[in-house]
Amino acid sequence: MTHTPSPRAARQRWSTASELLRLVHAEPGITRTQASDRLRLSSGASTELIERLRDARLLSEERAEASGRGRPTTLLAANPQGPLVVVVDLNTPRWRVLIADLTGNQKVVGAGDYGDREPAAFLSEIADIVATTQAGAPRRVRAVVAVVAGLVSGTELLQFTIRGWNDVDLGILTSRIPDPSHVQLIVGNDATLSGLAEARTGAARSARVALHILIAVGLGGTILVDGQPVTGAHGAAGEFGHLPFGDPTVPCPCGAYGCWDLMIDGRALARNRGDEPPSDPIAYAQHLLDAVRSGTSTSPRDKRAVDAVARALGAGIAGLVNIHDPEIVTIGGLATGIRAAAPAAFDDAYERGLMAFHRRLPPPIRDSVHQADGPVRGAIALAIDEITTPSALAAWEASNAD
Ligand SMILES: [Zn+2]
Repeated sequence: MTHTPSPRAARQRWSTASELLRLVHAEPGITRTQASDRLRLSSGASTELIERLRDARLLSEERAEASGRGRPTTLLAANPQGPLVVVVDLNTPRWRVLIADLTGNQKVVGAGDYGDREPAAFLSEIADIVATTQAGAPRRVRAVVAVVAGLVSGTELLQFTIRGWNDVDLGILTSRIPDPSHVQLIVGNDATLSGLAEARTGAARSARVALHILIAVGLGGTILVDGQPVTGAHGAAGEFGHLPFGDPTVPCPCGAYGCWDLMIDGRALARNRGDEPPSDPIAYAQHLLDAVRSGTSTSPRDKRAVDAVARALGAGIAGLVNIHDPEIVTIGGLATGIRAAAPAAFDDAYERGLMAFHRRLPPPIRDSVHQADGPVRGAIALAIDEITTPSALAAWEASNAD
């Protein structure tokens, strides 16, 4: 008769393992010695733990290059039979499906154009790719995470700005997997996930409280506390672009008036220049920002248009700093280019918008390190968090023992 540990005992048994696996994800290439030191494990405890994780097909070890006179050690790596996450990236002009292991190594397994298919037909094709990927590594796929440039709540995609879709249930993405009981579905917003990537391995690393801002079409972001995004009750927090920092007479597609969103992106630049709304606001903005930053354009109209957007951005970030008191602010997407094209206007508006006590020591605003890779990196990190909880690891061991 086999002894089945209680759920609580199983969680305790996997709690240090969980910490070690997350460390291996956050610092790919970490050695066994470094990891043991970081977790303050005795040599005996570390040997026992790593052996257990090897047997459970969670970790493997690779020989480390000898360096200096330190103890010989090994690099901790993902086990070739270990758990995987599938990322459905709906954040870029082309969709992609990727697979990633515990150390975050990625491989693209599908990609294509959206075409003009309706969401149901499109998502059904993606669900088939997810199911085929899962079938290629039975039991190893533990989470499917969808990254979307839109407003999400639970697994619902409420507003997918770049495609014009509304109220789409992404639950379909795991519906073709024959036994989905071991596979978690997670849906994340691109701005939140890129903020997570910055907090874990980017420009906000080690900050206790960080504010992240991402501009594409509209503006999103997140507050991160100890590397965890504050996502709200339904994952819909961080819609900073819908704060009323804008012109109260201008209606926003979200249903509100006067949203900040309408002041800080390619649509705003076009309005400021007196142009028609651009069909591709991101490309429009990139082109104009590059021209002003590089000096290719010396037109006062271009400069005024960019300055106005930079002021709106700097002032709004100051407002968010007044509210949240972050240590560091990170900016990504078009926000980086807006600041670079009009640094004086941006800095002036940021400083003027800060409460006096913040102005004495304003939180630094850093460009995102991961930029376009951020949302997918953040998605993988979030999924790894989910599949390395002590309970998830106990379930992994149990399902491998079947
Ligand atoms: Zn709005």
